[in-house]
Amino acid sequence: MFERILIANRGEIALRIIRAARELGCETVCVYSEADKDGPWLEAADHAVCIGPGPAKDSYLRIDRIIAAAEVSKADAIHPGYGFLAERADFAEVCRDCEISFIGPSPEAMGLLGDKISAKKLAREVGTPIFPGTEDAVEDVDEAVAVAQEIGFPVIVKAAAGGGGRGMRIVREASELRGAIESASSEALAAFGSGAVYVEKFLEKARHVEVQCLGDSHGNAIHLFDRDCSSQRRHQKLIEEAPAPAVDPVKRLETAEAAARLLREAGYCGAATVEFLMDANGDYSMLEVNTRVQVEHCVTEMITGIDIVQASIRVAAGEPLGIDQSEVKLNGHSIECRINAEDPDRDFMPQAGEVKTFVAPGGLGVRMDSHVRSGYRIPPFYDSMIGKLIVHAPSRDEAITRMRGALSDLRIGPGKSTAPLHSKLLDRSEFRNVEMDIHWVERMLKED
Ligand code: ADP
Repeated sequence: MFERILIANRGEIALRIIRAARELGCETVCVYSEADKDGPWLEAADHAVCIGPGPAKDSYLRIDRIIAAAEVSKADAIHPGYGFLAERADFAEVCRDCEISFIGPSPEAMGLLGDKISAKKLAREVGTPIFPGTEDAVEDVDEAVAVAQEIGFPVIVKAAAGGGGRGMRIVREASELRGAIESASSEALAAFGSGAVYVEKFLEKARHVEVQCLGDSHGNAIHLFDRDCSSQRRHQKLIEEAPAPAVDPVKRLETAEAAARLLREAGYCGAATVEFLMDANGDYSMLEVNTRVQVEHCVTEMITGIDIVQASIRVAAGEPLGIDQSEVKLNGHSIECRINAEDPDRDFMPQAGEVKTFVAPGGLGVRMDSHVRSGYRIPPFYDSMIGKLIVHAPSRDEAITRMRGALSDLRIGPGKSTAPLHSKLLDRSEFRNVEMDIHWVERMLKED
């Protein structure tokens, strides 16, 4: 096992990793920016090293400073968390060159699965369901038009290196395809340094269902079943739940097994999520692979009892997974609400500044993963998530009731939060009856 893990992240995920490391007997080093010098999670770490000013490009994204901090503090491993450098294969490579273990996949596996075209190619080979579309990056627009005509419009043009919803264009007519390919490609080139784009079928109405997986360096890969994350705004997930409700049990199992197979084939070590869209017939098509721990990993932990962060540290240290697929059992239902410091009544305006009052809910089956406490000042530089409220109960209905209670026990002020919006969403018939699709929250917000 590692002696000392450096955490190249902040906030709730830094705290989550500290807790996991502590139970494994590892010391922790947190790097932090000047804006985070009073971050409550730093108190939980064994050591803390300042790496620069508030803006992430001057601190949390500075590979040189993070590596220097790891060397000075004699850390033998780095956990990237999510966001920041978590999906940068070049960072994983620098760690390897410096003989520091990167807690995550090898740069090769990350590159293979992080590129949407190569991930889709591998998925096609191993039988993970994908959208029909072009097999390679578009080089000849006439060929792309022919493919689009064969699969039928609407189609979507997507960047191989895309992220955060950028570099995508929905195309409804053949005449628009050429322009869409050109503009998506130049946007992708500017944003990601690669202009490679591909074309696939666009699904109008879909649910977002994703499969949590774990792999080790001994050729094992398993799945921990699925989550539904259809409640989104601007591609940001608001509510996640596990297991995904109202899915065909046979297709669920086939898809989850196909996701695990994909990782096994890629030689993947660590935690990963294979994201799918599910159509009205309950058929799945892969969107992309996230090669890191996700914000919503907790709901899967609640229903499987498996500590995903600990497992990812153990496999990075070379241990075998030690969990057989047949040992992964579902127990009850779990829901997570991402609590953001934003005002839903004012176009989700971020609420930086002091949180004077913060009271986390508790009780049976209630978990609050948050780095916030009363008196904490939210810096203006980072995302606005201030905590994840997670519940676990025997059934989905009971989990919804438990979450409603927990949300009403939560106290955050004087700034606004998204907690009242969550209560509203949980009361809607679309959510209660599992009639969500990835646009339902935005439709509801428009109606209001
Ligand atoms: P990113 O890495 O930018 O998040 P994704 O591939 O995950 O890109 O796609 C982002 C979002 O775009 C999806 O959550 C979905 O809402 C939409 N999308 C992407 N591909 C399709 C598709 N083939 N059909 C319908 N919607 C899609």
